[in-house]
Amino acid sequence: MAVERNKMTNIPFNRPYMSSRVVASVRQVIESGKLSGDGEMCKVVEKQLEQLFHPRHALLTTSGSHALEMAMAILDLKRGEEVITPSFTFVSVANAVIRAGGKPVFCEINGRTLTIDVKDFERRISKRTRAVVPVHYAGVSADMDEIIGVAEARNILVIEDAAQGVNARYKGKFLGTIGEIGSYSFHDTKNYVSGEGGAFVTNSEEFARLAEVIREKGTNRSNFLRGEVDRYSWVELGSSYVLSDILAAVLKCQLDDLDTIQRRRREIHDMYSSGLKELAQQEKLRLPHIPDYCESNYHIFYILLHDEPERNRVMNKLRDFGIGATFHYIPLHSSPYALKSLGTGSLKLPMTDRVSGSLLRLPIYPQLTDDDVQCVIDRVCQILR
Ligand SMILES: *Cc1c(COP(=O)(O)O)cnc(C)c1O
Repeated sequence: MAVERNKMTNIPFNRPYMSSRVVASVRQVIESGKLSGDGEMCKVVEKQLEQLFHPRHALLTTSGSHALEMAMAILDLKRGEEVITPSFTFVSVANAVIRAGGKPVFCEINGRTLTIDVKDFERRISKRTRAVVPVHYAGVSADMDEIIGVAEARNILVIEDAAQGVNARYKGKFLGTIGEIGSYSFHDTKNYVSGEGGAFVTNSEEFARLAEVIREKGTNRSNFLRGEVDRYSWVELGSSYVLSDILAAVLKCQLDDLDTIQRRRREIHDMYSSGLKELAQQEKLRLPHIPDYCESNYHIFYILLHDEPERNRVMNKLRDFGIGATFHYIPLHSSPYALKSLGTGSLKLPMTDRVSGSLLRLPIYPQLTDDDVQCVIDRVCQILR
């Protein structure tokens, strides 16, 4: 064994990648004297996103959650209209739907990729359903062809929560650009970060125009800045979702290093996969599955243990060794807010519950050394043998 049995290490769960050029990039914006959003630097980064991932339009936003709020505002939901999304996810979609006056309907995930269970989604479509929001969990794509097939037949929109899917692909296409609207997150827990931040992406001219207005407090200020109108005014219900150019300057450096970040994450992912293969063969744990149709961005590396007590035992032991391992998602349908305001108490989503109880995430970020990764592997082996 490469590690001494009881030696403490310090491997935090996450550390945001930082480019050596970030200070110069931020300084450039500060010295320009214009710190608000939708300025020179935002334009540069939006162009960068469009060139890298090929959505027709990319608009930087203050967060991934806010990009989803913009998407839901565009749907213009009538009271009681429904949006289907997995229960096994972060709270952003559900919040955005409720804020827009609609009702989130939680569905099951499939046990292979932990993304939306398409059959269950289809069963939950009603005459009030307006949209489905698949979540690309861990940087692995939901099965978009199947989802779009169902959605088109039932005349509902597909909005991708690609917060974790930036720079990952489904059948060659970048996640976020396949449905009608996609959202990215640049929160500092994600692969490419600005601290807080996100993007609204779409191929639709109409949605892009609306998004621009919603993002600028409901005004047509963007048209004004382009000289298309001679003054601007309040034309829709909006809010303030423009990312500051200071944060765009941080993000620019991350996107400049896109391949470096992706390559290192892949190497770590592969080290974990081969280092833990034997335990998987002995059925002590399950490893993540990446389908052939998907190119992952290796956002998360998780293992699935037998049950919740076993997961918690492994998690706590790793933490005792100084390794930041952590669970993921209390299912939304059993969260206090959903129980209280959506009455989801009787909803049964067994796969969601099982995954939520047995999943453990291991550290994965570019600054980890091979020794760090080997240390985590050795500790997991030591605990499970
Ligand atoms: C991180 C995340 C979000 C929210 O992104 P923010 O930029 O933090 O608002 C939404 N959905 C999923 C699946 C996420 O992982």
